[in-house]
Amino acid sequence: MQVWKFGGTSVGKPERMHSIRQLITSTDSRKIVVLSALSGTTNALLSIGESAKANQDAEAVEKIKALRDHYDTFIQELYSTEAGLAQGKEIVEKEFSFIRSLVNIKPFTSKQDKELVAEGELLSTQMFEAYLAEQGENSILLPALEFMRIDAEGEPELAVIEERLTTILGQHPERQLIITQGFICRNPRGEVDNLKRGGSDYTASLIGGAIRAEEIQIWTDIDGMHNNDPRIVKRTFPIRQLTFEEAAELAYFGAKILHPSTITPAKMRGVPVRLKNTMQPDAPGTLIATSSTDREIKAIAAKDNITAIYVHSTRMLNAYGFLRRVFEIFEKYKTPVDMVTTSEVSVSVTIDNSEHLDAITAELREIADLEEHDRDQTIVCIVGNFSADKEGVAIKVLDALKNIPLRMISYGASEHNLSILIHSSLKEQALNALNERLFYYEDAMKDIFTAP
Ligand code: ADP
Ligand code: ASP
Ligand code: MG
Repeated sequence: MQVWKFGGTSVGKPERMHSIRQLITSTDSRKIVVLSALSGTTNALLSIGESAKANQDAEAVEKIKALRDHYDTFIQELYSTEAGLAQGKEIVEKEFSFIRSLVNIKPFTSKQDKELVAEGELLSTQMFEAYLAEQGENSILLPALEFMRIDAEGEPELAVIEERLTTILGQHPERQLIITQGFICRNPRGEVDNLKRGGSDYTASLIGGAIRAEEIQIWTDIDGMHNNDPRIVKRTFPIRQLTFEEAAELAYFGAKILHPSTITPAKMRGVPVRLKNTMQPDAPGTLIATSSTDREIKAIAAKDNITAIYVHSTRMLNAYGFLRRVFEIFEKYKTPVDMVTTSEVSVSVTIDNSEHLDAITAELREIADLEEHDRDQTIVCIVGNFSADKEGVAIKVLDALKNIPLRMISYGASEHNLSILIHSSLKEQALNALNERLFYYEDAMKDIFTAP
């Protein structure tokens, strides 16, 4: 069995839904098909929620109307029969009347907000399943809210997901295509919740791991993982193979093509992940598996909204136990630390969740001196196979960045990652400089030396 996930742009137009039907029926394997919301819908729903929260009811109603218009037009082109269209209209009417009722609830809390944002995936999957039924496909819609569970910390409950999914799948052995929602889940209170932005990738991997799928395919709008962020850097190219570790680092450190946690469940169960392009299905994409080709430097990613905290203590740092006390403070506030560097008298750390920054810095001041922290920082992460017996990665990176002030450098923690911290305003310059130096420099040199 395989798990195929289609993202927002892949389901964002009626003709794309038609292509997806062709794709998922073009091979015989039984599939679980995970869908995101139509592109733009999650943002629109969040914006409706903002208006509702601010008691801007007229504004919320306007936004709901604009979104509804989009769906009314969409279904006209999605279905080709009267019966299909009638089914589509019923789905849109039902979900939009629920959306309207949600924004009338006062006060509009995060519970309503989460129910509201879940509507994107609830709409796309019901509309698609009705389309498959119209076309006579052997499919069924399996509600993610019946099996996708997170715990009080927001972490998926793998054992629960596996047990429920196995039971439900066993009830429909004759179905070839099983459609379900990405992103949405229930929390321990039984309320509707989600796996955070971009979470449909994570859903696919959690399902793939739970059922020990043969393969997980993430279908999106680009031909696999590129060597650098194509939104910022012009000359990028797809990487054909990555190890689980390399892909996990890239996803965690900002490669938007994958939700940061996507690789974990797949890696745990050894299920390969293939990234494919819905607009160009014959392109090879990227295969993520246990091993990969031995190219030294694979790719670069960047993660924004980082805060750097500088802890300084001549008195305490070399005393054993000091670092433990520092990290216990971050643990207490459930704030993960991304980068760490140390010297004899100082330790610097970065965090990307600054919700508890004031409380953390107040407690740190009880055990050390703090320098003013820096916001608006970016971690640039270079990923590849940097085993210690190979030379030259660091020198190339530093050479590329010689004109950029570096706040922190972290190298040697794993064989796959070299990370640097810079001010976010320098990100574009840094990514482009690294791109030229790490991926095109040798070619440029070759051209110079072979030139007549
Ligand atoms: P989906 O809606 O299918 O989940 P996303 O927009 O979340 O798609 O992810 C795909 C996008 O990720 C691409 O269009 C691309 O702009 C962006 N992206 C950022 N970094 C990378 C990278 N290293 N390789 C490929 N795509 C990347
Ligand atoms: N629809 C959700 C989002 O836009 C989840 C996803 O697309 O993966 O974040
Ligand atoms: Mg995505």
